[in-house]
Amino acid sequence: ATQIRSNLFGVVYVLDEPSAGLHPADTEALVTALDRLKASGNTLFVVEHELDVIRHADWIVDVGPAGGELGGRILYSGPPAGLAHVAASQTRRHLFDHPPIPDRRPRAPSGWLRLAGVTRNNLHDLDVAFPLGLCTSVTGVSGSGKSSLVSQALVELVSAQLGHALPADDDDADDLERTATVPVGGHITEGIEAIKRLVVVDQKPIGRTPRSNLATYTGLFDHVRKLFASTKEARARRYDAGRFSFNVAKGRCGHCEGEGFVFVEMLFLPSVYAPCPVCHGARYDAKTLEIAYRGKTIADVLGLTVDAAWEFFADEPNVHRALELLREVGLGYLRLGQPATELSGGEAQRIKLATELQRVQRGNTLYVLDEPTTGLHPSDVERLVAQLDRLVDAGNTVIIVEHDMRVVAGSDWVIDIGPGAGEEGGRVLAAGTPEKIAHVARSRTAPYLARFLDDARVTQRKAS
Ligand SMILES: [Zn+2]
Repeated sequence: ATQIRSNLFGVVYVLDEPSAGLHPADTEALVTALDRLKASGNTLFVVEHELDVIRHADWIVDVGPAGGELGGRILYSGPPAGLAHVAASQTRRHLFDHPPIPDRRPRAPSGWLRLAGVTRNNLHDLDVAFPLGLCTSVTGVSGSGKSSLVSQALVELVSAQLGHALPADDDDADDLERTATVPVGGHITEGIEAIKRLVVVDQKPIGRTPRSNLATYTGLFDHVRKLFASTKEARARRYDAGRFSFNVAKGRCGHCEGEGFVFVEMLFLPSVYAPCPVCHGARYDAKTLEIAYRGKTIADVLGLTVDAAWEFFADEPNVHRALELLREVGLGYLRLGQPATELSGGEAQRIKLATELQRVQRGNTLYVLDEPTTGLHPSDVERLVAQLDRLVDAGNTVIIVEHDMRVVAGSDWVIDIGPGAGEEGGRVLAAGTPEKIAHVARSRTAPYLARFLDDARVTQRKAS
C-alpha cells in the first residue's frame, strides 16, 4: 500500500495475488491503484486468479494447461483478446465463456441455527439465522465483520455448545491471540440439536514437519502399509504394517528417523531442511526397501503423484477411493510423500476437504470455511463448489465466508454483512437467495453478484 502511493517511476513491481481476500469492490480500487503505478512509468508483473484483474491487463501470459507435471508450459503470451483462440487454456474458458452455474432445484432448509446478541469486534448485539442443511455464503467488504461473525462468534458458540474445545489448532501464535481476546458475547437460541460435529476447513498446515504428508493425513497410507506387510517376502520376514511406517523405529532410516530430511543449522543463515545423507530422502532403512509390492518399494510409492498412484492402486478400493477424492479437489499433481512443509495453504485446505469427503456422512456436521477460494484458479473454484454441494446433499450444513461470486451465486442462501467496514459495517444488510441479494439496493455485493448471474444466464441460454 505504501509503494502504491509513492511517486517512483521506472520500477518493476512483482505482485503475487494482490486481490487475495478482497471483496470485488476492493479489487476495483486495487486495479485503479495499479493503473496509477503504470501511468507514472512503472512496469507491473502480476500473478493473479481474479478474472477482473486479468481482464484489465495489457498483456497475458497463461501457464498450464493443468497443475504440477501437467503444467509448466506457456500456452499464450499476448494481448487479452488473443487468448480467446487458445483452446487448451482453462483461463480462456472462464474469461470469455462464463461457465454456467450448476443448474439444480432450490433446496429447502431443514431448520435454522439462530444466534442472538452476538457481540465481537464491530458486531454489536447482532441477531442472525443460518439455514441448516444448506450452503450459505456470508459476504461483505473487507472489515465488514463477516469473519468475526463466522470464523469467531459462530465457531466459538457452537464449539462451546458441543462441549468440545475449539477445533484443533496447532498454531501457537493464534493460541496467544485467542487467549488475549475477550470471550464472544451472544448465545444460540435455536437449532444446535441438529449439529453433532463442527469442522473448520481452514488453510492452516496439515503438519509442521516433513513427517506429515497427504498420505498420512488422509489415512490412505495405513492401507498402503498393510498391502506391503501382506506381500510374501514381508510375511516371510515377519514384517508387519508398522515396519513400513516412517514414524516407527522398526523400519525407518535411523539417521533421519524417517523424515528423509535432516535439519541443518547454519551459521549466520536461517536453518534449512536438507536431504538425509544416509537414505537420500527415502526415509527407510535398506532392509525395508528390499520389499516390493508389484515392483515398487514403499519409498517409490511415496514418490508417486496422486494421479500415478490412482492408476497403480486401481484394484485396491480403500486406497483408490482416497486418491479419487484428492484428484477431484484438483490435487492429482501432488506426490503422496510431499512434506506438509512444502504445501501451500490452499493445498492444505483441499487435503482437509478431501479427507472430510471420504468420511462416512451422517448429515449432522457443520462445515465452516473462511475464504476457501483464495489462491484458486476459477476452474478449481468450480470443482470446490461441486464438492461443497456434495456435503450439503449428504445433509450437512456448509457456511462459507466468501468474495468469489461463483461460490456466492452457487450457494443456496446469502447473508450480506455491511454496508461498509469497521463501525460502518457489522449489520446483517440482507439475507436470502443469491437472486434476492443481487437486487438489494444498499449492498456492495449486489452489483457484482447481479453481473455474475446475468453472465451465467446468457451462457445457459446459449447452451439450450
Ligand atoms: Zn534418512
